[in-house]
Amino acid sequence: MKESTRRVFRLHGWRVDRAIHNYLYFVFYDLYVKGALYLTQVIVTLFGRFPATRHLARFIFDRYHAKVLSWGDLTKILQLEEAVDLGPDTTGRIIPFRYANRIVLREPTHLAVMDCPCKLELDDPCQPVASCIAVGRPLVDFWLEHCEKYHVRRITQEEALDIIERHRQNGHITQAFFKVATGGSMGVICSCCPRCCVSMRATALVRKIKGAEGISQYAPSGYKVAHDPGSCRACGSCAETCHFGAVEFREGRRLYHPEKCYGCELCVERCPAKALSLFLPEGGLLPLDLELAGRMLTGGRS
Ligand code: SF4
Ligand code: SF4
Repeated sequence: MKESTRRVFRLHGWRVDRAIHNYLYFVFYDLYVKGALYLTQVIVTLFGRFPATRHLARFIFDRYHAKVLSWGDLTKILQLEEAVDLGPDTTGRIIPFRYANRIVLREPTHLAVMDCPCKLELDDPCQPVASCIAVGRPLVDFWLEHCEKYHVRRITQEEALDIIERHRQNGHITQAFFKVATGGSMGVICSCCPRCCVSMRATALVRKIKGAEGISQYAPSGYKVAHDPGSCRACGSCAETCHFGAVEFREGRRLYHPEKCYGCELCVERCPAKALSLFLPEGGLLPLDLELAGRMLTGGRS
């Protein structure tokens, strides 16, 4: 058995089922996400009209999540030099998920990129398909030893930022993924759009189930967007950029719907007049900002 496989089994302890799940998940990454999406489609088609199906959807969705990242929060993760290990007590307001809710990054300068399984699932995916980034040595070592078929390669922190920046220029949001299969913790960062991302596609499907309209596999960053009407040129770029319908123009007036906004920051980056900026509303979900999480741990803002 390879050393990285042994580490997977050590990580999960007596939960051998989760270790096997973890192993299969990454070794057969593309088949796994394809199967998960197919299963979701079958469940929604056959049982979506029954309200009880929402319990099944929640059971499945509690195990796999994403958190939208702003560029600033992403940068802090990709400049980390020390390990981070934050459990559910600290992360409850950042990643409000039942099981997949830990930020664990061991030896975080170790990074690797490989082809995104969601993109491999499509005939005509967004390019480039190399967008899944593993953060932390245990997962990186596992990918390097098991995932050659997905063109895995080791990268530096600067390269990772560069890859993600190019995806953001192509209109892809940045998400950190948390899975029970990886010990409930964060390990992968990917660049996603609603057309390619299986998590976003599955969420759209599950919301068709009666009573499951509020279920989501991805959580907002926590930020909202402030608009300076004095600088705005009414160019419409923010409405075109938003994947979530949070901005629209009606009779030449810009309308912002904060309840639909995931705080991805793409519109802010693309505004030619610099009329947009992120802010953190009081009392909402907190961002995955490692500095803020550190302060929470030491008794700062909560
Ligand atoms: S992108 Fe900026 S300038 Fe253009 S409409 Fe939106 S806020 Fe105004
Ligand atoms: S309004 Fe802007 S920050 Fe909010 S989801 Fe849309 S593009 Fe992202």
